[in-house]
Amino acid sequence: MSTTQEPSFRDSVELMYSRAVKLMDLSPGLEEKIRVCNATYTVRFGVRLRGDLHTFTGYRAVHSEHMEPVKGGIRFAMAVHQDEVEALAALMTFKCALVETPFGGSKGGLRIDPNEWEEHELEQITRRFAYELAKRDLIHPSQNVPAPDMGTGEREMAWMADQYARMNTTDINARACVTGKPINAGGIQGRTEATGRGVEYALQEFFRYPEDMEKAGLSGTLAGKRVVVQGLGNVGFHAAKFLSEEDGSLITAVIERDGAIINDEGLDVEALSAHIRANGGVKGFAGGTYTEDGSAVLEKECDILIPAALEGVIHMGNAKNIKAPLIIEAANGPVTAGADEILRKKGCVIIPDLYANAGGVTVSYFEWVKNLSHIRFGRMEKRQEEAQHRLLIEELERLSSDKGLGWELSPDFKAKFMKGAGELELVRSGLDDTMRTAYQAMRKVWHERDEVEDLRMAAYLVSIERIASSYRAKGL
Ligand code: GLU
Repeated sequence: MSTTQEPSFRDSVELMYSRAVKLMDLSPGLEEKIRVCNATYTVRFGVRLRGDLHTFTGYRAVHSEHMEPVKGGIRFAMAVHQDEVEALAALMTFKCALVETPFGGSKGGLRIDPNEWEEHELEQITRRFAYELAKRDLIHPSQNVPAPDMGTGEREMAWMADQYARMNTTDINARACVTGKPINAGGIQGRTEATGRGVEYALQEFFRYPEDMEKAGLSGTLAGKRVVVQGLGNVGFHAAKFLSEEDGSLITAVIERDGAIINDEGLDVEALSAHIRANGGVKGFAGGTYTEDGSAVLEKECDILIPAALEGVIHMGNAKNIKAPLIIEAANGPVTAGADEILRKKGCVIIPDLYANAGGVTVSYFEWVKNLSHIRFGRMEKRQEEAQHRLLIEELERLSSDKGLGWELSPDFKAKFMKGAGELELVRSGLDDTMRTAYQAMRKVWHERDEVEDLRMAAYLVSIERIASSYRAKGL
């Protein structure tokens, strides 16, 4: 096949959906109902800036409302267009079903280059966009709950939440209208790291199953595995940081817009990230060798490849050259449907986006629940848990001295054991459990059904089946 037959991002998602439903027994009506994007709203609004009126175009696509609110990020990028947000909204539907967050799928975007504007200008633009969405209930705690995505972060979410609150002064649940907010504006511990953390938990779970590793020709643990990361934004950075600092993996290359940095001994991820922030790219980083040809580095020998930036970076033009036996899709749609087929035939195992990057929406779910319950996780239990643990330690020490056993509990163990779980520990525990449970659901289908060749199909099957049951329960 030539590169001219490359499917678009939207076609890729549809092709993957079609491949999955062929293996299912859905009625044609339901198959079509789940496939289509329910609605896409385009808003065009003007903001007076620098003495001129500037018109901006934004979108919010609502893919499926089998559960409400619908959920999904808002990205700020010049490449934003209707097909892209619709494809991303569909992925959100499947992602939420797979990790059992009780949401339908949505996605938004604003066509803007955030680097072109000063902070106060961006605030005006974001607030105006939020106003346009909120007045149509496209931001709403029980209807549609945006979150960060490419080009947006907690700052933008705080502006949006505040804009909604100003427009709905008596809504006691106003803070639940958006997730990914800063802590002091109703956010939750661990949301910023969540997607990268979820990638780490997904890999840890994959590495718990020797027969799954074997399919990729891998064995052992994550320690010492050579990892290539494409895109050191929020997701790529956290995944690389945790894998290198906590699992002992070696980040042997990082690809960014201006090229790539290679170090077969493993890169210092924190230092590289600081360098990128200060210099706008990887060039000049002292801890590795620079090459301008980033796309060649995607094809470098490694154990795990983590595309963590844009969609479509692994396509029919380069798929055959990819050497990684395991790809984990930290980004949404980084492998096109055409590339997916080539890689599958080569025996490459792909941990698919709808699972791999679901950590973000999972912790968004916790944040939304926190906002609706108006209390921080762990606030009631933490000290009680500590008191129980202290009781046990004191009893052990009493027994040891009464019986002259001479047991000495190390101070380090005592401190760790005694510490009750705060919000961050609970969020990480909930995320870890979610990633494990979803992986187990996928691998069951992958191993039990012969016609299911890959994890992506398994993920789609689990997820579409859940969405279909939810529609059936509504009588559709
Ligand atoms: N933008 C993220 C995603 O694509 C997070 C969505 C959310 O938290 O709602 O999954």
